[in-house]
Amino acid sequence: MERINDILSSFLYIETFVILIIAWGSWKRRKALGALPLFIVCICSAFYAFGYGMEITASSLKDVNFWSKIEYLGLSFIPALWIVQAYSLSANGKKANKLHISSLFIVPIITCMFRLTNEYFHFMYKNERLISNGYFYILSYQKGFWYYVYYIFFFICMIVSTAMYYKAFLKSTGLARHQLKIMICVSISVLIFETFDQIQIVPLKMDYGAFIMFLVYVLFAYVVYPFDMLHIIPISREMVFDWIHDGAIVVDTDFNLKDFNYSAKEIFKSLDKSMIGTKIELCTSEAPEFDKMLRMWNDVDKVYSERSFKGDVFEFRITSMGTVSYFKARLKALYYKGYRIGSTVLISNVTKEKEMVLELEKMARFDQLTGILNRRCFIELISIEFSKLEKRDYQGILFMFDIDHFKRINDTYGHQAGDYILKEMVSIAKNMLRNKDLIGRYGGEEFIGFLPNISMDEAVSIIECIRSAFEKHDFIYDGIFIKVTASFGVAEYYRQGSGEYFSYKEMVKRADTALYMAKENGRNQIAVN
Ligand code: GH3
Ligand code: MG
Ligand code: MG
Repeated sequence: MERINDILSSFLYIETFVILIIAWGSWKRRKALGALPLFIVCICSAFYAFGYGMEITASSLKDVNFWSKIEYLGLSFIPALWIVQAYSLSANGKKANKLHISSLFIVPIITCMFRLTNEYFHFMYKNERLISNGYFYILSYQKGFWYYVYYIFFFICMIVSTAMYYKAFLKSTGLARHQLKIMICVSISVLIFETFDQIQIVPLKMDYGAFIMFLVYVLFAYVVYPFDMLHIIPISREMVFDWIHDGAIVVDTDFNLKDFNYSAKEIFKSLDKSMIGTKIELCTSEAPEFDKMLRMWNDVDKVYSERSFKGDVFEFRITSMGTVSYFKARLKALYYKGYRIGSTVLISNVTKEKEMVLELEKMARFDQLTGILNRRCFIELISIEFSKLEKRDYQGILFMFDIDHFKRINDTYGHQAGDYILKEMVSIAKNMLRNKDLIGRYGGEEFIGFLPNISMDEAVSIIECIRSAFEKHDFIYDGIFIKVTASFGVAEYYRQGSGEYFSYKEMVKRADTALYMAKENGRNQIAVN
C-alpha cells in the first residue's frame, strides 16, 4: 500500500521538475508567440502536480487539506490560462483586450479563495474526510456549489480554446497548421480525460489530470518553441534587424505582416505595430506593386531553394507628393524544419542610382538641347523599321532639313539665340508631324525625319507645311525678330512585289543629296530625290 503512492508521488515530483524546466525554457523565450502564457500555465501546473504528489502521501486530513490548497493555487487558474494560450497562438500576434483577459480570471480567483477558505464556508467541498482507496488515503467529499461552477467553467474554457485552435487551423498553412493540429489533439484529449475523471470511471479514485500535465506541456513546448525563431532572435540579431539601413519586413505564408524594422517604416509610412497580423497589402498601400510582386515571387518557390538572391529581386516605386522614390526588394523564404513559415523582404532605396540610370538612358537616346531623338537612336530605330520593310510592299518617306545660313544667325545674334531657334524649330516641326512619325537631330543644325505609310504627295504636303511654318514664324529672341528658313531633301521608299528596295543608308544618302539640291537651287525649298 505504501509503495504505490510513493511511486505515484515520485512520478509527480519528476513531472513537477519537467514542467519547471519547460517553464524556464518558456521564460527564456518569453517574447515568442504563446511562450509567456505557457510559462504561467507551467508554474500553475507545477503547484498542481507537486501539491497532488504531496497530497497522496499525506496521512492526516489536515495535511491532505493543506496540500490540496497548494494544488488549487495553480489548478484554479489553468482553464483561463488555456484560453489565453489559445488566443496567443491563434490570433496572429494581435493583442487581446485587457478587460476581456481580466474578466477571464474572475472565476479562477474566486475558486482559489473559496478553496483556501473552505473550512469556514464549505463552498468547494463539504464533509471532507479521509478514505482509503485500497492502497492509500484520498480525500472524500461532497461537492459544494462552487465546485460545479469551477468545473463548468473548466469545460467551457477547454471547449472554447479547442474551437479557437480549430478556427485558426482552418486559416493556417505550413508550420502553423502542423502546430495547431497538435494543439487541437491535446485539447480534445484533455477534455476527454477530464470527462472520465468527473464521471468517476477511473481506478483508485484519483485525479489523473495531475499526471498528464507534463505530457500536455511537453507538447505545448514543442508547439511554442519554434515560434521562437520569428519572435526571439538573439538580441544582437534583433538589433541588426532594427538598425540596418535596409527596410526589413517579415510575412507569414498567408502574407500577414509579422515584423518590420525602423527602416521599413521610413519606406511605408503607414506601417504600425498595431498592424501586425494584418494582410501585407493593407500595410503597404502606398505601393500596390509591392504586394503584387511579393505574391508573384513567392510563387517562384524554386528560386528560394537555390539560396541565391539572383532571381528573387524586384523593383517597385512609391510616389509621394509628386516625387517618385525607387526601391529594390530582395526576398528570402523562411523555412523551419522543412516547413515553409513565411518570407523576409529586404528593401533598399535605390532612388539615386535609378535616377542616374534613367538620366543616362535619356542622354543616350535623346538630344539634350531639343529633347528629340539623337542621331544614334534615330538610326537604330530606323534600321529596325527598314529591316521589317524589306519583306513587304511598302511606301514611306525619309526627309532631312538644314537651317539656311545658320552660321550667320549665330554670328549676328549669338550662340544662345541660335540655340533658341533650334529648339523653336523642333517644336514647330514636331507639331506638324503625325504621332507615328520619327524625328531626330542628325547633326548641328541638321535634322532627319521618317514618315511611315505615306504617299509622296501626302508627305510633301506635310513637309511643305513645316517649311512654310518656319518661314512665317516670328522667331523673337531678346526682343529681336529673326527670320529663319530651312531647306529640305526628301527620299521616297517604295517596294512592290519583288521590286528593288533601299537600305536606310541609301535612303539617307538620297535625302542628303536632295537637301544639297535644295540648297543649290536657292534654299528655303523642298527637293525630292
Ligand atoms: P547653309 O545654309 O549652307 O546650311 O549655311 P549654314 O551657315 O547653316 O551652314 P554651316 O554648316 O556652315 O553652319 C552650321 C552652323 O551651325 C555652324 C555651327 O556653329 C552652328 N551650330 C551647330 N550646332 C549648333 C548648336 O547646337 N547651337 C548653335 N547655336 N549653333 C550650332
Ligand atoms: Mg549644315
Ligand atoms: Mg545650314
